[in-house]
Amino acid sequence: MLTISQSAYTSIRQHGEETYPHECCGVLLGRFDDNGVKTVTRVVRCGNTRADSPHNRYNIDPRELIRIQREGRERGEDIVGFYHSHPDHPAQWSSTDLAEAHWFGCSYVITSVEKGMAVITNSFELTGSDEADKMFVDEATEVS
Ligand SMILES: [Zn+2]
Repeated sequence: MLTISQSAYTSIRQHGEETYPHECCGVLLGRFDDNGVKTVTRVVRCGNTRADSPHNRYNIDPRELIRIQREGRERGEDIVGFYHSHPDHPAQWSSTDLAEAHWFGCSYVITSVEKGMAVITNSFELTGSDEADKMFVDEATEVS
């Protein structure tokens, strides 16, 4: 399960509205609790570097990701997930999303944005042990 504050949840959804009709993307910092719950303590917005196809692809600059990870660790935060938007497409993961997901145990949050308005936000956890058997599993989200 993914636990997230109302303000962080709103920030994710607003980001998708602001970048529409392009995809937004960002990183979720927080902590992994013992009971399988991930708690988001900070949302970091990233630039989408997929200039070739920003309406249906996203990519976070690896250098930006490393900086976010380092600054998070200095505050005691881990990367617990990632988020992006689907402009005029359902809030369901695509085969590309799965192929490009490599952080096992992390949450992948997708918000559908229809005609510029954020509609549905879903979370999926990347499970499996390696690239060959990885898969996304529906994950409950608790907004507190
Ligand atoms: Zn996607």
